[in-house]
Amino acid sequence: MLTIDKYLRPSTLEEAYEAAQKKNSVVLGGMLWLRLANKRVSTAIDLSALGLEYVTEDEDFWHIGAYTTLRTLETHEALNNMTGNLFRDALKAIVGVQFRNLATAGGSVFGRFGFSDVVTALLALDASVVLYKTGALSLEDFCRMGKVNDILTEIRIPKTPVHTAYFAQRNTATDFPVLNVCAAEKKETITIVVGARPLGGTVYRFSAAETAENMAERIAGDAVFTGNTRASAEYRRHLCRVLVKRAVDEIMAEREGI
Ligand SMILES: Cc1cc2nc3c(=O)[nH]c(=O)nc-3n(C[C@H](O)[C@H](O)[C@H](O)COP(=O)(O)OP(=O)(O)OC[C@H]3O[C@@H](n4cnc5c(N)ncnc54)[C@H](O)[C@@H]3O)c2cc1C
Repeated sequence: MLTIDKYLRPSTLEEAYEAAQKKNSVVLGGMLWLRLANKRVSTAIDLSALGLEYVTEDEDFWHIGAYTTLRTLETHEALNNMTGNLFRDALKAIVGVQFRNLATAGGSVFGRFGFSDVVTALLALDASVVLYKTGALSLEDFCRMGKVNDILTEIRIPKTPVHTAYFAQRNTATDFPVLNVCAAEKKETITIVVGARPLGGTVYRFSAAETAENMAERIAGDAVFTGNTRASAEYRRHLCRVLVKRAVDEIMAEREGI
């Protein structure tokens, strides 16, 4: 059970950041992951009064506020139009609609969960994150960082149309994925992210001139897979080969208008 001594709903990011520096404090997203923890926290920091629930665009980027729900992204028409329905496809199997109406983009990214469909999809889009004190950095770099004591305020996605394909293998519907693969093609480069190995997403980039078989072989040969209660390392490697090829074939077909 999560036991909270003090609840704080700051009205400025500075106040939230200051509170987050205190020992045993915790920043709240939708609290869906956090609530599973068995610990006592001194201060729980609720970000709901900070105006971080938005999806906006300018000339170069989509800006997604940290408090935006996964359901908003999944059903966002313009964002899906630009990304080949990536948000719809990647998020639809995460537990259920009520759950996705509560889970936040910020909590999903900040957690950097190895199984994350959200992070795998965003990595393939070359997304970056904005942390209140640290500033902006690529999601790829953020995923490589250790523990960070900051507030994630925003996720940015370059506003370049992409062809995408997303596949996640689950043992049963709505379970955590055994493997997830996202391929995105932008300006003759194909970015492929393989996550839930069960380690977090690794990013590979290829020229669009390479064959799907080559990409699949190279990633399956290079990526580190491990086993857990859901699947063995060997099964994950096999899935990787199949799903990468399938994803690249799909974006190639989309590009050719087949
Ligand atoms: C049963 C279950 C099944 C799930 N299945 C999947 C799945 O199949 N695929 C998938 O991709 N995801 C899955 N998830 C993860 C889920 O989608 C969310 O990513 C997760 O619940 C975190 O989102 P949240 O908003 O609830 O964050 P919280 O649980 O509130 O927070 C998560 C972490 O992020 C920190 N945090 C939150 N917001 C911020 C912020 N703005 N700045 C700094 N730190 C912050 C918190 O302190 C905490 O450490 C699952 C989660 C659960 C509980």
